[in-house]
Amino acid sequence: MSLPPSHHRVEEVTLLTDRLGTRRSLTVHRFGTPGARPKIYIQAALHADETPGLLVAHHLIRRLRGAAVSGEIIVVPMCNPTGIGQIVEGVHVGRYALDGSGNFNRIFPDLIEGAAERLVGKIGPDPQANVQTVRAALRAAYDALPPPDSEVAALRHTLMGMAFDADMVLDLHCDQESVPHLYAGDALWPELADLTALLGAKAMLLSPDAGGKPFDEACSVPWWTLAARFAADGPIPAACVATTIELRGKADVDDAQADADAQAIIGALIRRGIVAGTPPDLPPLLCAATPLTGLARVVSPVSGVIAFHRAVGDQVAAGDLIADIVDPTAADPDQARTPLRTPGGGILMARNNLRFVSRGELVASIAGPEPLESNRHALLFD
Ligand SMILES: [Zn+2]
Repeated sequence: MSLPPSHHRVEEVTLLTDRLGTRRSLTVHRFGTPGARPKIYIQAALHADETPGLLVAHHLIRRLRGAAVSGEIIVVPMCNPTGIGQIVEGVHVGRYALDGSGNFNRIFPDLIEGAAERLVGKIGPDPQANVQTVRAALRAAYDALPPPDSEVAALRHTLMGMAFDADMVLDLHCDQESVPHLYAGDALWPELADLTALLGAKAMLLSPDAGGKPFDEACSVPWWTLAARFAADGPIPAACVATTIELRGKADVDDAQADADAQAIIGALIRRGIVAGTPPDLPPLLCAATPLTGLARVVSPVSGVIAFHRAVGDQVAAGDLIADIVDPTAADPDQARTPLRTPGGGILMARNNLRFVSRGELVASIAGPEPLESNRHALLFD
């Protein structure tokens, strides 16, 4: 079937602000038929200083404009105008809100309880009927949320409102220095294996619920939580395929690479019949999916200068030396180094891009196959 090129509409969505005389808005690009299924939602730079996704979004929009779309694709190419504006003494602070609202990618609205109370007695044997029923309950739960009480809460509320009922949600981020990697729920593997392969990702980190309510999980976790809650009544599929895509490191902003990443995403959409075209050949997967509980975090017990011994992409074993932390003020320079070893083996997925750390700061992350005791408490490093 050949479809005409998709209709492309650009909307400005005005956001609530906290201060007199300020105005914030989101630019939203919509492709395809409003309200049609499947619905795909893609956003970039929720952590506003993570630039690679902005350029990927540009190439996505450029390519989707000429494509035939079945369903609806929503692209919000710069989804955090509050964070974009946070320049302090020439430094862009994009991960945390300067008003004290915390990490921008945390505490998105929780729709689970609101949906669950509306689903009692309504789940039956037909999984597709259940998808419709659950979406309606999530919609009712979203509509019943209390009004957001701050600019950042209003931003989270608005982004969530565009995404929670999507069939697929792609949240484009980057790490500090890293190989490409993704985060998703256990239930979404191997559904996301094709996108993982197309993006050339070197790690795919799975968990049932990492905690902290990041954007992707706020959209996807309700599905398997409600499925477990109503298992005796009937099957509820994981009908929102949401993932956080870490597009390498902060400085890895390259026009050709960004276009290749955009084509990888569009390739996954072609494979799902959402964008017309010839499905791309799948390159081999470069990683196995590993549990988020197997992510070894190398945290510095002291402050000082990082002297790395290993690079991103290296395979390392538990106990390997990753870096020395150097204290240049040490009276005895032979005692100036604190060696940092990894508690677990795997691929060195990400490194701190600054070379001076505080005590307790994350220096490197290694994605490994075995759950680590050190991850019993918090799964996401804030
Ligand atoms: Zn991020």
